[in-house]
Amino acid sequence: MTDRLAGSSYPSDAGLLAELREQWPPTAEADAAIGRGYVAPDLAASEPAAVVRLGDRFAVALVAGPDGSFRVVPLARDAVLVTTWRQAVPGDGLSAFVAGVPMASERAIEADQTNTSVVVGERAIVKWFGRSGPAPSRATGLTAHLDAVGFREMPQPLGALTWASPTGVELTLAQGDAFLPEARDGWEWAVERLERHVNHGQTLCAADCDPWIGARLGSLVVRLHAALLTPSSVIPEPAAIAAPAVAAAWRDAGQATLNEALRLTAEQDPEAGAALAAIEDAVRADLDRLPLDRPVAIAPVHGDLHVGQVLEWSGGLAVIDFDGNPALGAAANALRQPPERDLAQMVSSLDHVGQIVDQRSAGHARQIIDAWIARTRRDFLATLDPDPALLAAFEAEQECRELVYAARFLPRWRYAPVATLRARYG
Ligand code: ADP
Ligand code: MG
Repeated sequence: MTDRLAGSSYPSDAGLLAELREQWPPTAEADAAIGRGYVAPDLAASEPAAVVRLGDRFAVALVAGPDGSFRVVPLARDAVLVTTWRQAVPGDGLSAFVAGVPMASERAIEADQTNTSVVVGERAIVKWFGRSGPAPSRATGLTAHLDAVGFREMPQPLGALTWASPTGVELTLAQGDAFLPEARDGWEWAVERLERHVNHGQTLCAADCDPWIGARLGSLVVRLHAALLTPSSVIPEPAAIAAPAVAAAWRDAGQATLNEALRLTAEQDPEAGAALAAIEDAVRADLDRLPLDRPVAIAPVHGDLHVGQVLEWSGGLAVIDFDGNPALGAAANALRQPPERDLAQMVSSLDHVGQIVDQRSAGHARQIIDAWIARTRRDFLATLDPDPALLAAFEAEQECRELVYAARFLPRWRYAPVATLRARYG
């Protein structure tokens, strides 16, 4: 297994682009046995702006989006002499080719994902971005930075497949990482530990199942944030200061998110909407705690740091997925933000671990769960020393973001942020 993804930046191939445009859109793989494709986009409406050729049988088409981003469409053909291109599927060798080990096995991962990750030879995982740009990938830069400063509590980055866009931006099409065997994300391992704690005595605890995960996660985030703040050749000056005008923009965005959360929730679920309306003033007051009269320290942040981004595997814990929050726009995914953003999101997700277990146990363990949430939060924050005003404002905003996300994409998730907000402000 090589430890670098084959090649880095590729130009577009004019001859192949003309050929592809004639047969666009490429067919999706009909054979269910092979598995689902890398992407399931509606491709008929537009044609490719560029195509990167990868050897004889693979290619990646780029379809321009309205905002300067590109859909990434991995393609394959079944033999060199076959002229029709189809959408690639895990198993046909594209990811193994890109990882530099064309004979290795490929399998799709089962977990909930925004992009398409393919495990190659049980040693590497190649994540294909559904969309790339308009800015360079956060993850490629951040993981290179963390690697350079010696942060090891993440899968080792193996390089990226990039393409130079017409405006000269290196866009990441796929990112390779070392595959961590038997890794499980926090929506599994943290939830399971709390469930065992709740059912104490009823379940045999085979593996390490200490429910008090707050301090362990807190010290991981201390080391992550220290590494993010360490200068490297990739990010020579990580630390910066946000001017009051920037903080004012954060506050406006927070208020707008609250308004949207209230409106969408009331439309879709009047009962939850009424519960939120009753605490609206208190939530708004926390959003208003963002300090506008003093400069705020900012630094590179993970940008989507919830418990699902912390994998537990045989080597310990590992942080993944530095792409930022896929549900938010570019401003909200700025590289540099107050570190309290990451802390607020992690604290919120730990609270949601409690809400998940509460729902599964039909409310029978509410007191145990509330005590777990309180202690886990305290243990997590103990070594982190956040600014309380920033933390309170970002926590309130995080719950509002979750409500908007639930309303747009996952209504059955709404109960979690509603329960968290009611517990805090009700
Ligand atoms: P997405 O951007 O699609 O959310 P992630 O990077 O969060 O993709 O990865 C999705 C899932 O893939 C994770 O929740 C985890 O289960 C698995 N995964 C990601 N990276 C690794 C890795 N290096 N080793 C093992 N599993 C991984
Ligand atoms: Mg993820």
